[in-house]
Amino acid sequence: MRFAKHGKPEKGLLIIDRAHEDHYRRLITEFQKSGTKYGYLGNIVDIPYFAGCQATRMLQIADHCAYATFRRYENNDFTYFNMIIGSFDKRSSNKPDGLKHLTTDRNCTCEACHWR
Ligand SMILES: [Zn+2]
Repeated sequence: MRFAKHGKPEKGLLIIDRAHEDHYRRLITEFQKSGTKYGYLGNIVDIPYFAGCQATRMLQIADHCAYATFRRYENNDFTYFNMIIGSFDKRSSNKPDGLKHLTTDRNCTCEACHWR
């Protein structure tokens, strides 16, 4: 959506693990009708692509990112997280818009909360 607002017509592709295909089909249909909390979901190409996690490297990368983030927040292990922190979506400067930390700790100084 940010690109579209700046005249860039790029579209995104959703690649989703087929393990929960029915749930995600319903969710995406709802998003396409009503939008998300971030706005209209209109910059997605066609329909979502469902694949087994062994069939596409994109799902393997997503699993790696989820695992690295889990290890960082649950075990304070930065080994893999430090490899991906620079790749989270950013609007400008170093604020990682693509990383949110849902916590009640208002004093948290993690990478996501630091720029709140
Ligand atoms: Zn935090």
